[in-house]
This record gives sequence, structure tokens and C-alpha cells, in this order.
Amino acid sequence: MIRVLSVFGTRPEAIKMAPVVRRLQARPERFESLVCVSAQHREMLDQVLDVFALTADHDLAIMTPGQSPANVVARVLDLLPPLLRTVRPDVLLVQGDTMTTFAAAFAAYLERIPSCHVEAGLRTGNRYHPFPEEMNRVLTTRLADLHFAPTAMARDRLLAEGVPPDTVVLTGNTVIDALLATVSADHQFTTTALAGLDSRLRQVLVTTHRRESFGEPLKAICAAIGDLVARFPDIEVVLPVHPNPEVKRTVEAGLCDTPRVRLIEPVDYVEFVHLMARSYLILTDSGGVQEEAPSLGKPVLVLRDTTERPEGVEAGTAVVVGTDRERIVATASRLLTSTEAYERMATAVSPYGDGHASERIVSALEQRYG
Ligand code: UDP
Repeated sequence: MIRVLSVFGTRPEAIKMAPVVRRLQARPERFESLVCVSAQHREMLDQVLDVFALTADHDLAIMTPGQSPANVVARVLDLLPPLLRTVRPDVLLVQGDTMTTFAAAFAAYLERIPSCHVEAGLRTGNRYHPFPEEMNRVLTTRLADLHFAPTAMARDRLLAEGVPPDTVVLTGNTVIDALLATVSADHQFTTTALAGLDSRLRQVLVTTHRRESFGEPLKAICAAIGDLVARFPDIEVVLPVHPNPEVKRTVEAGLCDTPRVRLIEPVDYVEFVHLMARSYLILTDSGGVQEEAPSLGKPVLVLRDTTERPEGVEAGTAVVVGTDRERIVATASRLLTSTEAYERMATAVSPYGDGHASERIVSALEQRYG
């Protein structure tokens, strides 16, 4: 029996870990699967646990109003080591690039427990973009024992950094496992704001929450959205507003009275997947959404100056437009007017996986720790 403790704390980590945990649970003869949530996000995390019918065996409940990245690390490092001494997992699983990811991998190291990193090898090469995620990735790579790379590019980056080749496994991204298990042709929206979407309009979905966009860049994104709805009377912008107070304040001040802009609460994952599927075009600074959209045939404009997911840009599914108002408006306008430009992006093949990443991860765990 291999006792695996999966530790995560935010919405995107939970979405990407859920398929792995479910697959571990499906092998009770081989794995004892335990889940510990830090609850770095509370409500958005709980939404995902509900959607995937997961329960936390341990809940560090660290979230406090206005918490800083340093607070999160301090709380996890305070609470996780005693738990590790009690649970004694054979291996700890972390995902992605959050403060929880790094802090949990570091806690495991301090307790001499091997940790494995799901979605390893993403880099922009700029230590402050995205902040603090880029550094969390680098540090988690240094701490981990086994690295699950979602793409060949991510694998090659790890190898170039000197990570031993026999510890790197190319798996695909588990986000595609979650997406394919969730999307269905006959979904009916239950969120009131989505049930009322106007079928005569083209929906443009926008999400934004990056720390490095707080302030002027986010104001420029809002101004670009205002320009686009003014220029295209047949579009409607749907923007689930991230609960971070900085994001909420700027987005609400910039867009609350703009016609054909729906500012809504974050919606649960099932609703969000179908909102992406329903959309014509997606503007986002989210990592997960950049990966999901191409599997649904949706062009993505990346509202950031850099991306650690250049695979989508290379494959033609995404364009990095940054946070410059004119550039966002010009690129979106081209896709809203030229069917040819639109189809080229919509039909490009997703580079992010085939929906079997979690199977490969579980096999690799069995081989290494069995
Ligand atoms: N998502 C969701 N509801 C929303 C917005 C996003 O369930 O209202 C999902 C989305 O499908 C993706 C994940 O949340 O899988 C992305 O999370 P986020 O953008 O917060 O983080 P990132 O991916 O940038 O780390």
C-alpha cells in the first residue's frame, strides 16, 4: 500500500488535482489516498470539492482576510509538519505554483518525505512575472522528488535545468482530464445570471486576477472591454469577478454601468466550463483557462505580457496581447470581424493533453513508490 497525501488550497489546484485523487481512490488495493486542504481560498475551493465529490481528510483552514503570500507560507509551515508526523504519508503530492504548493513541498522536505509535483516545468523566465507564482514553480522543482511535466516543452525545460531525467515524466495536463469529464452537450445553466444569456449576441468571456495587473493594467483591460462593447453591438461581455478585493474594486469601478457587460460572481466549475463552451472568444490572464479553451475550440487572448504556456501561442490557439488597451481592442476586433482569422485559431489543435494525464501520474507513482 502506498499512502499518498495530496495537498492543495486554491480553486485551480483543486480542479487539476481532482482527477488524480479520483484515480488514486479507484485503486484502493494499491493506494491509500488522503487529502489535506490548506484552504488558501475558501469558497472557491469548496465549490470544486463539491463538484468532484471530494472530501478533505484534513483542513488547515488558513485563510484570513487580506492574507499576504508570506502569511500563507507561515501558516502552512506552522500547521503541516505536525500533521505529516502523524499521518506519515509515503509521498506527498502538490500541484502548480501557489504559496500552498511551495510551502507544502518545503514542509515535506523538512520531514524527509518525498514530494511529487503535478504540472512541473512551467516558466516565464522572469522571476516577477507572474508574481509570486514563477518563484513558487522554481522552488518546488528544487524540492520535488518526481516531476510530472504537462508538455514536452515543460519536460525539456526541467531537463535543461539539470533535473535528473529519470525523475521527469511527461503526462499531459490534468486540467484536460477534468474538463473532458465535465463538459456535456446538454448542459442547462443553473446560475441565474447565465440562464439569461442573450442567444442573439456573441458572448466574450473575460477573467482577470493576476497580481501584477493590479492598478493601471487592470484599468486598461476594463477600458478595452468598454471600447469593444461600444464598437460591436452584437457582443456581450461576461466577466466572473475574482473575489480578490483589488480586482473587485477596479473592475466594478470601471465596468459596473457599461451596457452589455455582465459582472457576475465566480461560478462553479461545471457552469464555468459550459460558459467557455458557449463563448465566442475568451480574454483571460488565467493559466487554467488558457489550457482549457483550445480543447473547446475557443480562441484565447492572453491579458499578460508573458506566458509560461507558450505551447498555445505556438500551436495557434492563443495570442499574448498584454494589458495595452489599443492592442487588446485591435486583436479582439480582428477576431470579431474576420471569420478566417477566427477559424484559424478556433481549429488549431490543443497542445495540453489528451485527458489521460492522471492515469500516467498514478502509474508513475506506483512504479516509483510501490
Ligand atoms: N474557473 C471557475 N469559475 C470561474 C472562473 C474560473 O471554475 O468563475 C476555473 C477555470 O475553469 C480554471 C480555473 O478556475 O480551471 C482557473 O483558475 P484561476 O484563473 O483562478 O487560476 P489560474 O489558472 O490562473 O492559476
